[in-house]
Amino acid sequence: MKNVSIKKGIVVAFGELFLKSEGVRRLFKKTLIYNIIFFLKKANLEFKFFPFRERIFIETKETKKALKIIKNIFGLSWFADGFFFERAGIKEFSDFAAKNYQNWIKEKETFALRLKNNLKESREKIIKEIAKGIKRKVNLSKPKREIFIEAKKEGWFLYFKKRRGLGGLPVGRGGMVLTLISGGIDSPVASFLTAKRGAENIWLHFHSFPLVSRASIEKVKELAQIFLNYQPRLKIYFLPFAKAQMEIKTKTPAKYRILLYRRLMLKIAEIIAMKENCEAVVTGESLGQVSSQTLPNLRIIEDGIKIPVFRPLIGMDKEEIIDLAKKLKTFLISIKPQEDCCTLFTPKHPTAKGKLEIIKKLEKELKIREMVKGTIKKAEIYD
Ligand code: ATP
Ligand code: MG
Repeated sequence: MKNVSIKKGIVVAFGELFLKSEGVRRLFKKTLIYNIIFFLKKANLEFKFFPFRERIFIETKETKKALKIIKNIFGLSWFADGFFFERAGIKEFSDFAAKNYQNWIKEKETFALRLKNNLKESREKIIKEIAKGIKRKVNLSKPKREIFIEAKKEGWFLYFKKRRGLGGLPVGRGGMVLTLISGGIDSPVASFLTAKRGAENIWLHFHSFPLVSRASIEKVKELAQIFLNYQPRLKIYFLPFAKAQMEIKTKTPAKYRILLYRRLMLKIAEIIAMKENCEAVVTGESLGQVSSQTLPNLRIIEDGIKIPVFRPLIGMDKEEIIDLAKKLKTFLISIKPQEDCCTLFTPKHPTAKGKLEIIKKLEKELKIREMVKGTIKKAEIYD
């Protein structure tokens, strides 16, 4: 008799990793495994980890808790609660099914077995053998319960409901980006979308304390707690913006101010991005959402910036962004009141067609380089 071991827990399937070459895939998988273990440990879950070529099995008694954590991990295509049969063959497997099927399929319910077979035995033989012990009605086209079986060299997997994973790529494998976080609805969503494609985010927030309260700072910290469910670690730069804003406010015409603020933010962001080895700066801008986000103004905002500026929300409607923010659970934090450092100091109707020449002239008069240096010097960093 073989020393069969039946483990209860969660079956996990990788996502897009399979599009990659063998070498790249190995690295992605390593990061993915690191991330899964990191988040399970962070939640104090008791588990054992079994990585295989195409699947990971997480043995745990706390499946509910584990499912909640796993659903937030990038790089997974699906996951399901179920069993892993180590060193088992058809016999052990079908015995187990015969003994337990009543827990899986209720009396009048129909079922279907869905088999993925990597073994030499024929499909028909395997299915027949397993189905024999299950005294319930089969319905292949519209079953009430589906039972998924994977017969693999390393053992057998049995699982029930396939749940869709978050998709994307394991965060930490795609380099780093610096994301401008305002405390509003959009920027955390933009950050999430870049993390989804594997980029590790560093955050940068400009606040206007002590001209206004610390509300925006507290909000960004709260948002960070949510974001840390998706990305294992997060560094945040808090930069005081009040002094620069006051200066811009007193020395420039109202209609150019918002563009001046944004340009200053990006100039500062570029320097911090270089220092942190970030490959790009990310913002929550969306085309035409407000007048500072028209095409001509977006161009003016990033004029002179050498590092790529990514705007993952560029084609999204506000409603779509809000839906996503609600799913991520950032929405309720984002809508808490804050005196936005930019709305506070800007007119209601900034120019939708700023003139770059005029703006550059204003920046010269403002001694913008000094402003950049002065602001960066006062950075507070949270890790
Ligand atoms: P959000 O909801 O992210 O605040 P928004 O629609 O309010 O976006 P704006 O206020 O025009 O848009 O800001 C556009 C983008 O500029 C933000 O998404 C963010 O990336 C960046 N940004 C704005 N204010 C700040 C700030 N105080 N600190 C850091 N980044 C900021
Ligand atoms: Mg905003």
